[in-house]
Amino acid sequence: MPKLTEKVALVTGGSRGIGAAIAKRLAADGANVAITYTKGVDAAVSVVKEIERAGRKAIAIQADAADADAVEAAVEKTVATFGRLDVLVNNAGTAVHKRFEETTLEEMDRLIGVNIRGVFVATQAALKHMKSGGRIISIGSAVGERALTPGLVPYSATKGAVKMFTQGLSREVASRGITVNNVQPGPIDTDANPAAGEWAIPQKAFTALDRYGHVDEVAALVAFVAGPESSYITGANLTVDGGMIA
Ligand code: NDP
Repeated sequence: MPKLTEKVALVTGGSRGIGAAIAKRLAADGANVAITYTKGVDAAVSVVKEIERAGRKAIAIQADAADADAVEAAVEKTVATFGRLDVLVNNAGTAVHKRFEETTLEEMDRLIGVNIRGVFVATQAALKHMKSGGRIISIGSAVGERALTPGLVPYSATKGAVKMFTQGLSREVASRGITVNNVQPGPIDTDANPAAGEWAIPQKAFTALDRYGHVDEVAALVAFVAGPESSYITGANLTVDGGMIA
């Protein structure tokens, strides 16, 4: 029997990139899956259809991670549709690539709203429904662990916050049998960080493996953390970065 049979997962920002790969992988492992997105309804529908073709149930919910009401409604809709919530993957994230002194207040607010506040709100809403065996998994970043280049100061700060959020919360919910972990990708080939292009050259050079990662390589780690075999892992920052911060 697949290891996530009868489990329900919610993946924020699950219509493209890393989130879509996670949603499909958790479904392949047996879970029914809800995803959120903001603008790209076609991409979201295509992920839902792919999961349904594979024999699982899926729904897509429009919910900007910076909109607390929408995020809470997405959690409630997931539970109303599938009857439970076992795995929350806080994947929705945004990046601003420019020097700190040029970053606008609006850009900083957006980064904080999506990458930190969105994680807080989704997790609080999900914890209302989670039972023993529950999994809170956030997608942080290798640059939340170590700053390698100029140009990502507020983004790195938000991912560093996700790291401490994970560590702190793990101590509060452990007694309920819920684990909290942070998966920190290095450079992964997505629309947000394409492997082709000028900005990709230094990122690739920082990795020990001298290549970008594939979304499925992140999804594989998330699937492990979501599954029963990770029962003794909590408060951990698990890096999947081709050796970028080695
Ligand atoms: P993409 O931009 O490729 O995909 C983002 C996904 O999230 C889309 O489904 C998008 O849907 C959705 N999304 C974007 N903003 C929001 C929002 N405010 N609320 C809800 N959904 C949203 O990103 P990646 O797959 O590259 O990144 C996913 C996560 O991984 C992020 O947290 C990112 O910081 C992190 N990460 C990525 C790395 C990389 O190299 N790619 C490295 C380290 C971490 P829609 O278009 O409809 O909004």
